[in-house]
Amino acid sequence: MCAVAASEVSLDPTVQSFVGEPRKMLIGGQWVAAESGKTFEIYNPATAEVIGHAQSADASDVDKAVKAARKAFDEGPWTRMSPSERQKIVWRIGELIDENTEKLAQLESLDNGKPISVARAADVPMSADMFRYMAGWATKLDGKSISPSVVYAPGAEWHAYSRREPVGVCAQIIPWNFPLLMEAWKLAPALATGNCVVMKLAEETPLSGLFLAELMQQAGLPDGVVNMLTGFGETAGAPLAAHPGADKVAFTGSTEVGKLIVNASQNDLKRVSLELGGKSPNIILNDCDVEKAIAGAANAIFFNGGQCCTAGSRLFVQEGVYDEIVEGLANYARGIKLGPGLDPETQMGPLVSQTQLERVTGYLESGKAQGARAASGGGRHGDTGYFVDPTVLVDVQDNMKVYQEEIFGPVVAATKFKDFDDDLIRRANDTVYGLASGIWTQDISKAHKLAARIRAGTVWVNTYNIFDPSLPFGGYKQSGWGREMGEKVLDHYLEHKTVCVGL
Ligand code: ADP
Repeated sequence: MCAVAASEVSLDPTVQSFVGEPRKMLIGGQWVAAESGKTFEIYNPATAEVIGHAQSADASDVDKAVKAARKAFDEGPWTRMSPSERQKIVWRIGELIDENTEKLAQLESLDNGKPISVARAADVPMSADMFRYMAGWATKLDGKSISPSVVYAPGAEWHAYSRREPVGVCAQIIPWNFPLLMEAWKLAPALATGNCVVMKLAEETPLSGLFLAELMQQAGLPDGVVNMLTGFGETAGAPLAAHPGADKVAFTGSTEVGKLIVNASQNDLKRVSLELGGKSPNIILNDCDVEKAIAGAANAIFFNGGQCCTAGSRLFVQEGVYDEIVEGLANYARGIKLGPGLDPETQMGPLVSQTQLERVTGYLESGKAQGARAASGGGRHGDTGYFVDPTVLVDVQDNMKVYQEEIFGPVVAATKFKDFDDDLIRRANDTVYGLASGIWTQDISKAHKLAARIRAGTVWVNTYNIFDPSLPFGGYKQSGWGREMGEKVLDHYLEHKTVCVGL
């Protein structure tokens, strides 16, 4: 049973027993233990205490899951259902997520550490909306009729058209920062387009995915259509990415592992989509609305404890407002209430794990050693759990590690610029990443000029971290391949077939 402090929400009895019993994995419609019998511990990041256990899948479990998905794909009934029947099931999954909001929010908060208020207001409803949005596409996956452009033999006629068909078995590997939402981003489009899936959850946060798999069964998803594995990257993720029975791999995580996924998939040339790291520039011009820019810069870096691939971690402030913005942001950072995710008053939770705590504090040390100064925060918060103080680094140079590398924590590197010119754009684009960016200005012309020249998949103007199921999301450069969400994502999950008929 999980210990819950007096200030924390009392756990729903379903959540208590779900966490308290060792969790199994879903393969071919059956809840099973790993063949090896191995399990691993699940931690509460607010206390570093063990709260549960999950199965540690290896290559033999992966093989079973891929075969179950293959069988479901080849033999139906899923792939033979009408689009309307599939639509209803995908929609129903969204409805069940909504109906279970409190349970899912508690699981997510316990497992990942995020504030329950955020899980209730963002992670859970956004996941439900993703399924509902994608459900609508299930009935609109039309090909088109094509008129051949040249007639090579006089008198010959052809009728040609295209069909859009599911790719097949999709391997999906997700991270721990938004567990439920990443499950939704990957599963909803795969299912709406008629694919079958083997998903590997992140080892840090397996709970919401296993609960979601139960909801999918309740929604009427046939056996084997979604197989849910828990386990580690090297022992479960790597054999899944390399499995010859998977037609596609979709991955969200670090750029480093993204490259391993590409290598693993090359033997059989799987389709690959990747959503990877970032070091996003957030640019504040002299003519911004200062109050909004401060709150926006804080949201850009401190939302989810900075554990966002889109985090606005390189802050460029024009010199006319630099002092005001940096002081305002540091004050904002000092005012953020840190605490366990399950405390309704908490605004920022702990980092997800000991590894992340060491990684982020390691970067803070390196920044200080290279001459950066913390205008707020600068280190670990308290000595229980994995908390780090929201940190604004100043006196940052472009060659510092804290400026160049993805930290994945609540740490922003603030720098100053003089003019709105080519040098600003060069510096903003001077990164191997290209996931997101922000611009704060009241000059509409500057906003659009800058938006066109930033090499990133998303540009937010006078806002940050806005996501919607209809807005394609993904990266330039080493931030990834392809786009999630919107109509764009459908191409990753559909093959295009040309049918040409001689008349
Ligand atoms: P992070 O560094 O943020 O933990 P990772 O990229 O390491 O992100 O992990 C994201 C997901 O990728 C997790 O589910 C993890 O288990 C998985 N993973 C890690 N290493 C590999 C690998 N070599 N092959 C496939 N999946 C992996």
